[in-house]
Amino acid sequence: MAELINHYRLNAERCLELACNFKDFESKRALVAMAKAWSALAAQHSKNIKKGYSTLCPRCESPMRWYRADLTEDRRALEHSYQCQKCGFISRSDNQSHQVA
Ligand SMILES: [Zn+2]
Repeated sequence: MAELINHYRLNAERCLELACNFKDFESKRALVAMAKAWSALAAQHSKNIKKGYSTLCPRCESPMRWYRADLTEDRRALEHSYQCQKCGFISRSDNQSHQVA
C-alpha cells in the first residue's frame, strides 16, 4: 500500500516535469491539474491507511485496489477506478459502478 502511494507521488512529479516541457498554456494547466489529482490521491490513500480502511467492494465488501485513472476527453478531470481483488468488480469514482466481465 505504501508502494502505491509512492507510485501516485511519482506520477504527480512526472506530470509537473512534463508541464515544464510544454509550451502551450492549456497543456501546462492540464498537467498541473493532473499532478494535483495524483497528489490528492496519494494523500487520500495515506489517510485511509492511518484510519485502517480502504475502498470496499459494494458486492462482497473486500478491500478494493486502485485499478486505473484516466483523463476525461477535455483533459481536465481524473477518473479513478477501483477493482475488487476478490470478485473483480470495478467501481469508478465518478460513476455509480461499472462491471467489466
Ligand atoms: Zn468484490
